[in-house]
Amino acid sequence: MDPGPAMSINNPDGRLLSIVVPCYNEEEVLAETLRRLSETAETLEARGLKVELVFVDDGSRDRTRELLRRYAASDRRVRMLGFARNFGHQLAVTAGIDAARGDAVVLIDADLQDPPEVIAEMVDRWEEGFDVVYGTRTDRPGESRFKLATARVFYRVLNRLSDVPIPLDTGDFRLMSRNVVEVLKSMPEQDRFVRGMVSWVGFNQIALPYRRDKRFAGESKYPLRKMVRFATDGILSFSAKPLQLSVTLGVLSSLLAMLVIVYSLAMRLFTQEWVPGWTALMIAVLFLGGVQLICVGILGEYIGRIYREVKRRPLYIVQETRDGTTVVRPAEAGE
Ligand code: UDP
Ligand code: MG
Repeated sequence: MDPGPAMSINNPDGRLLSIVVPCYNEEEVLAETLRRLSETAETLEARGLKVELVFVDDGSRDRTRELLRRYAASDRRVRMLGFARNFGHQLAVTAGIDAARGDAVVLIDADLQDPPEVIAEMVDRWEEGFDVVYGTRTDRPGESRFKLATARVFYRVLNRLSDVPIPLDTGDFRLMSRNVVEVLKSMPEQDRFVRGMVSWVGFNQIALPYRRDKRFAGESKYPLRKMVRFATDGILSFSAKPLQLSVTLGVLSSLLAMLVIVYSLAMRLFTQEWVPGWTALMIAVLFLGGVQLICVGILGEYIGRIYREVKRRPLYIVQETRDGTTVVRPAEAGE
C-alpha cells in the first residue's frame, strides 16, 4: 500500500481531515461507501491533505462490524469503533467526533445519500477560513412523501422555537474545524442533537447546497420511533418554549374564566335562570383552573433554568483573542 503524499508544499504540516461515518446495519452499502470515500480521499491527498476514515459501528446486528474490522486491518486510512449496543445515530456521530484526530472533521452518512464528492468543496470553504460548512439539501429524490413532509414541518417548527437559528433542511453532513470540534467535545449534554449544537457554537459558518441522493442500498435505519425521539431531542434541547406554554395557557384560561365568572354572576343576580350551586361551582373550577396553570407555568420557568444549568454547556466561546499584534486562535494557543 502506498503511503500517499503525506506532506506537500501547500500543506507543510500535513493537515489531517477526519471523515466520521456512523453505521447501523449497513452491510449492503459499506463496500461501496468505502470505495467512494477512498476516491475522495485520494483527490484530497493529491492536494496535500491527509485523510482518516473513522467508522463507528452503532451496535449493528448484521455483518457491519466484521466488514469494518476487515477494512481497518487492510486499509491504512480506516479506523473503526464498535459500540456495545445500538446507541443511536447522534451518539455514534458523537463518538466519531471524540475519536477524530483531524484538523477538520466531516460527518457523513454511511448510505451514500450525501455524495462524498461534495467533501472536496467543503474543504475548499474550510481552506478559505470557514469553521463550519454545512450541506443544505436542495433536492431529496427517493424519499417517502411522509419523510419529506415531516422533515419540512420539523425544521420549520424547530426554527420557530429554537433560541439559536438552526439552518433549514440541513442534516449532519458537514465539515467542522478543530476549534468547533473542541467546543462540541466540551458540551457534555446527554440528549444530543448534533446539528443544533454545531449551530449554537457559532464561528464562521456557511451553507453548501447539494443534491441528496437515494440511499445506495438497504432501508432507512430511522424508523418512526427514532424520528420522534430525534425531533423531541431537537426541540427540547434548543427551546424552553414548551415549558412556558402553560403560562400562556394559564393567562388565556384565566381571562376566559373572568368572562364566564361575570356571566354566571349576572345570571345568578339578574335572572331567574339559575341552578342552585352552579355559580359557585363555575367560579371555583374556572378560577382554580387558571391559577393552577399559571403555577405550573412558574414551575416550568424554574425547571427551564434548572435544565439549562444541568446541561453544563460552556457559557461562552472565545473564537479568537487579539494579543498585541498577533491573533491567537484557541486551538493553536492550546497546543
Ligand atoms: N444510524 C446509526 N444508528 C442508528 C440509526 C442510524 O448509526 O440507530 C446511521 C445509519 O447507518 C446512517 C445514518 O445513521 O449512516 C443515517 O441513517 P439513515 O440513512 O437510515 O436515515 P435516513 O437517511 O433514512 O434519515
Ligand atoms: Mg439515509
